[in-house]
Amino acid sequence: MSNQWDYYSMVGFVPETDPPEDLERLSINADETALFLDFDGTLVDIAPTPDTIKVDASVRSLLNDLVREHKGAVSIVSGRNLQEISDRLDGFAGTISGGHGAEIRHASGHLPVIECDLARLGHIKKAAREFAVLEPRVIAEDKRFGVVLHFRQHPDMESKVREFLSSLIGSDDEFELQSAKMAVEIKPKGISKADAVKRITGFDEFAGRRILFAGDDETDESAFSWVNEQDGITIKIGEGPTCAHYRTHSPSAFKDWLRTQTKMMES
Ligand SMILES: [Mg+2]
Repeated sequence: MSNQWDYYSMVGFVPETDPPEDLERLSINADETALFLDFDGTLVDIAPTPDTIKVDASVRSLLNDLVREHKGAVSIVSGRNLQEISDRLDGFAGTISGGHGAEIRHASGHLPVIECDLARLGHIKKAAREFAVLEPRVIAEDKRFGVVLHFRQHPDMESKVREFLSSLIGSDDEFELQSAKMAVEIKPKGISKADAVKRITGFDEFAGRRILFAGDDETDESAFSWVNEQDGITIKIGEGPTCAHYRTHSPSAFKDWLRTQTKMMES
């Protein structure tokens, strides 16, 4: 038990008090629910590198059906750049939040993006890219409002990556580290998926609906925590400690559940 607590304090969020229930026990009403869905590891399987994920037509078709059933109250909430999600989900008419909430695209237009020292961020990105050139076991992902170093192929690189990225920022910096699955990122402080969800619930089609948030990794825990406080529904995809109330084992199981809820079996 003490090991479990050590892990929780290390990753920085409150331990789950009750284990999450099986998602199969949950049913939702499309007229009363707003969907907030993470992308990688939630709607699509995680791939060896960020560029090699596969988004097949069935995902786009499912999302379009959900947008219609939920009267527009569907948002993707991803750490990826907004443009990348928009390109990969070509034709998606719902809302998209990219960069952990740094950018939001809504039917009414793009919201003002977060302000940060872009010149300094440029130097940080450059240093991280150089690191990945000198250390090919690590992959750098350049983002509009940050940079990620991935070590999925070489988990033993985690401490070296973390140490290097930490050395680029100070304790009172406007930038901070964000851990994800087999990756560490530098992003502006003050943005989070929880903040993205808060902002999006202000839009008309989302207002007054019960919030459902689904995600798979540490970057989703801030949103789980806030959504739980709003008496919303939280769903963790896959293994690992979480404060989400429900769990399912994989993106495909989650998508099957979504299809069952809307009684739309894919052709
Ligand atoms: Mg994810």
